[in-house]
Amino acid sequence: MESAFSSQNRLIIVSNRLPIVLSKAQDDEWQVEPGSGGLVTAMAPVLKNRGGVWIGWPGNMEDDGLDTEDLLAKQTQKFGYHLKPVSLTAEEIQKYYKGFANEIIWPLFHDLIDHCNFDPIYWEAYREVNRKFAEVTIKDNRSEDFVWVHDYHLMCVGEELRKMGIKSQVAFFLHIPFPPPDVFLRLPWRFQILNALLEYDLLGFQTLRDRRNFMQCVRIMFKEVRRFGGGQVFRLRIGKREIRVGAFPISIDYHEFSRTAATKEVADKAWYIHEDIPKGKIILGVDRLDYTKGIPQRMKAYQNALRRFPELRENVTFVQVVVPSRRDIPEYEHLKEQIERLVGEINGEFTRSGWVPFHYIFRSLDRQELVAYYRTSEIALITPLKDGMNLISKEYCASNQDGNGVLILSEFAGTVAQFQKYALLVNPHDIEGVANAIHQAYHMPEDERKSRMQRLRLNVRRYNIFWWVDSFLDAAIAKNLDNFPLLEDYVPTQQTAES
Ligand code: UDP
Repeated sequence: MESAFSSQNRLIIVSNRLPIVLSKAQDDEWQVEPGSGGLVTAMAPVLKNRGGVWIGWPGNMEDDGLDTEDLLAKQTQKFGYHLKPVSLTAEEIQKYYKGFANEIIWPLFHDLIDHCNFDPIYWEAYREVNRKFAEVTIKDNRSEDFVWVHDYHLMCVGEELRKMGIKSQVAFFLHIPFPPPDVFLRLPWRFQILNALLEYDLLGFQTLRDRRNFMQCVRIMFKEVRRFGGGQVFRLRIGKREIRVGAFPISIDYHEFSRTAATKEVADKAWYIHEDIPKGKIILGVDRLDYTKGIPQRMKAYQNALRRFPELRENVTFVQVVVPSRRDIPEYEHLKEQIERLVGEINGEFTRSGWVPFHYIFRSLDRQELVAYYRTSEIALITPLKDGMNLISKEYCASNQDGNGVLILSEFAGTVAQFQKYALLVNPHDIEGVANAIHQAYHMPEDERKSRMQRLRLNVRRYNIFWWVDSFLDAAIAKNLDNFPLLEDYVPTQQTAES
């Protein structure tokens, strides 16, 4: 695909958090270090080339007296692009971020309506904070800029920018799923949110599933809708507005993971991990502490597999990494307690001398350690109840140096569309079905494992994070949208490992 995006178009990224880590050194001076993660890796070179700007919350509270604007302005040389802070008070973080974003949109968009707390004061704060982000974005805006707003925290920034008379193109990418109409329509602010999204020039979703859900909502709520084209990106006309809508599965820096996995340090760490768990194959789960990830259901499936398939006992060990997250929301604490209860139950039932069936790690691993686990684990069990994409599944494949690991994947992870032919697909709610898939993965012959993993790795290598950035930026300006390939969609079939 030819890139029509010119180096004159300054790229302005707007996201909830700036890609930095703020900390205080021993001399009480504030330090600013670059953050990590796929988005920063992909964006940094583009931002540096075009002299771009990243706008977001720096992570401290407005009321703590730190002049972040000045501090971050001094970092331009080190980062290679400008960092502009949006200062937020503790109350704004409470209502806009913890409240509206994480107690309403996060559960609702993951189809978990019972977890939603539709408190009207959250909506007010969300609008206010989105306006704040727009105010910082419109300062020094040039008509040839390209503004790219990220994720569910900032859905209304585009609309605020329009009201303020923005001249440049404004695009939006939703990193989480978009729910079907029967779920979305429960949102008390459904018209406001949909209207706001339709103010962008380009709207990007992770998968065709999300885009289909969005389109169904648009068709129900707006009568005059016309769609032109049917590929990865199409045009949509509503009244006088015309926007582009596309599916762009986010990805990882494949080569970075593959290279890290091949280093001696990682090989040594991987060896030690298996040395400590000498009995048979390792089944790996890695997740943020979140109720969307299906951790308790997966643990029950493992317990079921050990009960029903005695040959697995002492021949497999489950390692579950849980990364602490959103601990100040009570539901997350309940989830942690539930997981810990199940760890005790499983280990109490099956532990034998020299074999502990379930290893539970409750902390964040550094990159090398994480890649060592990916590299050495024979089976990855990734079973979210719903996930926008799920980068863990891509990182596991990219790091699978020997190319013989088996990926068991939820039908409800965004990755499923790309991986459907080569992963073992499961319905995460089907305890016996997941147990069957563990059994199948355990017995899978080496040649089958290798051929499946090779195809998975090729897919991640091709559709990597740099492909994702390029295709999104091109979609905003390409004259001919037919040049974008149609991505694969996922529809369940009888072949899923059902019980
Ligand atoms: N991750 C990490 N340390 C850990 C475990 C995970 O840095 O100990 C990272 C991992 O590399 C991945 C991200 O956390 O990039 C999780 O992304 P994913 O899309 O799977 O889920 P999310 O947490 O965004 O819902």
